[in-house]
Formats: sequence, structure tokens, C-alpha cells
Amino acid sequence: MRYVDEFRDPDAVRRLADAVLARASRSWTLMEVCGGQTHSILSSGIDALIAERVELLHGPGCPVCVTPLETLDRAQALAARPDVVLCSFGDMLRVPASRGDLFAARARGADVRVVYSPLDAARLAERLPGREVVFLAVGFETTAPAVAGAARWALARGLRNFHLLASHVRVPPALEAIAGAGDSRVDAFLAAGHVCTVMGTAEYAPIARRHRMPVVVTGFEPVDILQGALLAVEQLERGEARVQIQYARAVRPDGNPVARALLEEVFEVADRSWRGVGLLPDGGLRLRGPYAQLDAERLLPAELAGAPEPAECRAAEVLRGRIRPPECGAFGGRCTPDHPLGAPMVSAEGACAAYFAYRAAPEPEEDVA
Ligand code: SF4
Repeated sequence: MRYVDEFRDPDAVRRLADAVLARASRSWTLMEVCGGQTHSILSSGIDALIAERVELLHGPGCPVCVTPLETLDRAQALAARPDVVLCSFGDMLRVPASRGDLFAARARGADVRVVYSPLDAARLAERLPGREVVFLAVGFETTAPAVAGAARWALARGLRNFHLLASHVRVPPALEAIAGAGDSRVDAFLAAGHVCTVMGTAEYAPIARRHRMPVVVTGFEPVDILQGALLAVEQLERGEARVQIQYARAVRPDGNPVARALLEEVFEVADRSWRGVGLLPDGGLRLRGPYAQLDAERLLPAELAGAPEPAECRAAEVLRGRIRPPECGAFGGRCTPDHPLGAPMVSAEGACAAYFAYRAAPEPEEDVA
């Protein structure tokens, strides 16, 4: 398949891995930001090819994983109302909140539905004028434009029963927090190519400058990631720290101006809590101007009692690259994709799910003697 096969070519992978090893005069630690990159790394095994000189740490780029428990509890409270239809993407329905996940809420009688786009939820609101349709909107700058488009569509039609429980997050403040942490081991970032396809690269230049850290905007296939690693290592070896684009087939420095304009029309930058990371200044988006009337918080003004995170889940350390999932005592035992304790074991982009899928210890052989 064009644009895929050539980026999974084993010979190209081997050549690039050799080039990384040849260029690195010492050990370097790179953090891939996006969970999609983490899954690609673990499923292809490219981390092992360069492990002698380059350690790949997994970053916080899983939007399902960083959605705060409080938001999930709000979704549960909204879903419990008999007049509400709660919609979201499939992953979100399996993330544990204080009282179980949204599938459990559905089993208790709530009207919880999986949709494939925010516009599907808006259209549902049009078809069900007697119900309040709430879309639980999570994601990075990649998914926010589609939500913004649905918001504009709903407002243009005067739909008063379409609401957004919006918990969109922005990547650059998270990189700033990781780079600025006193105990950070990260030498360079492999930034998320799809986020920069929308947003461009300008937001990353101050991070590279301030922390003397290369930021290489990288794609998702094994060849992409190894090219990104090579560019980062070359910069580090030369003592440089700038933004470079590896994922040039999709990313332009100014991103997608149409999508950015739509985002700016519907959302404004705001402080936001990231699950496992804490409150990040300018870490998210909130509805602005006339779009604020779509905010689902208006349906649920009461404060919710905050619930503590499960004590044994070490997702906060996983999301900051401080431990790898198998270092969590619950990994593969109390916590599995069928019975997740934390969001990183649920999401298709979660690091714990990736390790479980590709690196979990094999089942012991049956003793046939
Ligand atoms: S393995 Fe499970 S319990 Fe441990 S950090 Fe990951 S999600 Fe949390």
C-alpha cells in the first residue's frame, strides 16, 4: 500500500537503525510523545534495534489516558439523567471512573451510545428533540477541529439540545512540564506528527530553545520513527536544539490554517488538569463566545465530590515516562485490558495496553511430562 509499505520496509528499518547507532557517540534518551508511536515502536520492536545507544521513553500522548477522573464522573452523572443521551468514542466508554465505566452505566439503564464522529452526535440531537444529547469530547488538537465543526453545525441549526462535555488538551504545555521537571531524563522529543499536521510547529520552537532540546515532528510508522530518532541524535551530537519536521508528507510549518481557524472560532486556550500529570497552565481548550452555550456543564452545575485515583495504579508515572508499565505491580495481573484499573490499559493509544499486547510475559508452558 502506497505511503504505508515503504515506511514498514524491513531493509529500510535496519539501515536506519544502523545509522542511529553509528551516529550516536554516547547514550541518548528520546521521548516519543504520542501513544500511536508507542504502539508502533513496541509492535515492530525497533526500540530493541537501537537500545545500545538510544532509550525510547513513552510520553503522555494518549488523550483517553489523560482525561481527568472528574470529567468521567461528570459523564457518569449526566448519563444517569433520564433525559440525557450520552455519546462518545468507544474507547471512552471503557475508561474506569469512580463508579465503574460508561458501559456499566449503560448496564444500569443509562442511554450511552458509541458514535464515530461528533457530527453523528449532533445529528442525533436533531433527530431526538425531546432528549438532551451530550457528546463527551476528548482528544488533542487532532480531534478538536471535528468537535468544533460539530459545534458550528449545531449552532447554525439552532439546536438547543446538543451539548459538549469538552476535555480537549494541548500537547505543548505537557512537553514544557516534562522538559522543565528537575528530574527529567529526556534529551529530545519526537513530537506527534498528527497534532502538528493541524497546529504546525511554531509552538514547539520556544520549548526547544528554552530547554536546549531538539523537537523532531515525527510520523507513526517504524521508518518514520527511526528517521525521527536519527534527526534527533544528529542534532544532539552537533549540540543543536531546534524544531525539525520528519513527517513532511503531512506537516507544514503553519499546519492546517482552515482547521486552526475553526479551532480559534470555537475554543479558547485554558488551564486544564491532565489525569496523572496535574493542572497544566494553558493545557487545554474550552468553549468560547456563543459556543459556550453548548457547554454540558450548564446541565450539571452542581460540584461533584472528587474521588481519589486507584492507589495501586501508577499511570501518573507511566504518562511522564518515569516508569515502564511492567514496573507497575498490577500490570498483567490485577490490571489487564479485560479488567483495566487505569486508562493506559484501556486506550488503543495507552502505553500499558501496548506493553500488554506486545511485551507481556508469555503464558507458562503446560507441563506434559
Ligand atoms: S498497568 Fe494498569 S494499574 Fe498499572 S499503571 Fe498501567 S493502567 Fe495503571
